[in-house]
Amino acid sequence: MKISFHGAVGCVTGSCHLVETSTCNFLIDCGMFQGSKVLKERNYGEFQFDPKKIDFMLLTHAHIDHSGLIPKLVKKGFHGPVYATNPTVDLSGFLLPDSARIQESEVELKNRRNERKGLEPLLPIYDEKDAEKALSLFKGVPLNKTIDINNLRIIFRNAGHIFGSAFIEIQITENGKTTKIVFSGDIGAIGHPIVMDPEHFSETDYLLIESTYGDRIRPPEQNEDRLKELSAVVNSALKKGGNLIIPAFALERSQDLMHDLSILIERGSIPETEIIIDSPLAIEATTVYAKYPDYLDDDAKKLLDKQGTLFDNKRFKFTKGAEDSKELNNQTGKIILSASGMCDAGRIKHHLKHNLWRKESTILLVGYQAEGTLGRMLLDGVDRVRIFGNEVVVAAQISQMQGYSGHADQNGLLDWLKSVKKVSGKVFIVHGEDNARQELAKKITEKYHFSCEIPAMDSSFDLLTGKTISMGIPTAISPAIPPEVTPAISLPTKAAAKVQFKPPTTFGKDSYNLFAEFSLMLAEQMRKIPEETKRAKLVSKLIEQLKSFN
Ligand SMILES: [Zn+2]
Ligand SMILES: [Zn+2]
Repeated sequence: MKISFHGAVGCVTGSCHLVETSTCNFLIDCGMFQGSKVLKERNYGEFQFDPKKIDFMLLTHAHIDHSGLIPKLVKKGFHGPVYATNPTVDLSGFLLPDSARIQESEVELKNRRNERKGLEPLLPIYDEKDAEKALSLFKGVPLNKTIDINNLRIIFRNAGHIFGSAFIEIQITENGKTTKIVFSGDIGAIGHPIVMDPEHFSETDYLLIESTYGDRIRPPEQNEDRLKELSAVVNSALKKGGNLIIPAFALERSQDLMHDLSILIERGSIPETEIIIDSPLAIEATTVYAKYPDYLDDDAKKLLDKQGTLFDNKRFKFTKGAEDSKELNNQTGKIILSASGMCDAGRIKHHLKHNLWRKESTILLVGYQAEGTLGRMLLDGVDRVRIFGNEVVVAAQISQMQGYSGHADQNGLLDWLKSVKKVSGKVFIVHGEDNARQELAKKITEKYHFSCEIPAMDSSFDLLTGKTISMGIPTAISPAIPPEVTPAISLPTKAAAKVQFKPPTTFGKDSYNLFAEFSLMLAEQMRKIPEETKRAKLVSKLIEQLKSFN
């Protein structure tokens, strides 16, 4: 019996774990890699296992970094059932076709550029048809009920991370010996809006635990504090006369904000302005929440009883087509919620292009910002970015609120383990950058004396002996297809001075980020030199360097 780690190790995306037993093989999650370009290249490569030999899949929740490669898995020959909670099945029904449309349009854009460069066209990772085919394999399962799948005993329990999210307990009996494995999926923070707090479990042989915030401690999430903070940001942003732009994941974060903004509107704590939800996916996902009131926490149930619906407020305006979205470009004094939450895809990039350079605008970041994303650069205080190949100065106010994190912090993760009496085998620390994994491993060992392991990409372990079978890839992964040289976004001058061109050793900043950083520095340097001869000398020197580089 063995487990292999094929994603979300050393990074927070691409979650994918394979368990092989004497009677069946199954995957827990099959997510898409997001963040830096090098990481994203992995989505295009072959799986490190044969999809035809996988009997079934268990999906912890609907986030694309846990589910986004299921259509590719199906395209490559997987045809078994995909088990998930009912809300996850419904939400995936919107998210996977949306992800397919993103793949298709990204490749279309790249191919237009490749054609001009005389390069071969690329194929999308999958298309909408593959996504629909994958969805036909989804099967809804209830929470807290033992189900028998291929003679394994499996229970999905509430993980409190997003609507319908679960952690999964699995018991496998082989040669009369039962081995238990618990997969945390993503664990939510206590007191998070809309969803109930995570449940617990009592003992296991092996545990895979996420570590997104394994090295960070946030102040405890308090409803009233969060509402007060949001109200302060909204009031100060609107006072400046500009727009308040909130990049928010279409799923959960957008609904959390709509939930809290509804409360602030009802209390009269924020000015009467239009709140625009410019994310077709957020609008679709919103319809699922009211369908499963059993998954809502008490506050959300109260709001549902009072309003009749959870998110319908007359101040919310939902955009329809791209035209509605474009109309917002020249408006001011509005609150605009748009996806993606890390600013690296979707309509939010247009809103940032039209607002970052305006000093009266405010950008409010409310979620995790992975290394190498535009959101992370804004958070790091850069003064210039590149969006759609255009240089944009950052003059807007960049604000951040931590109260909306969908992930437990270090204390939350340790607290989640408090009821665990025994882990007879190992705790595998996954779904985190390496610092976070090491820090969490240290804390778990100190506090609970469980044996912790930090697995590498594509490594595998024998679950009967606990021994390593294959070491995997310890650091940055090589791209599966030749990368493209034009970076979509970049690191600018203020941060460049701080960062000093460190070569990438982890999944964070890659050669594309460095290239973008370099091109912005060069452009700025050229602007600083008034004499044409000096400018030409600088460029000639760089060309010489390039030619002599092997
Ligand atoms: Zn998640
Ligand atoms: Zn995740």
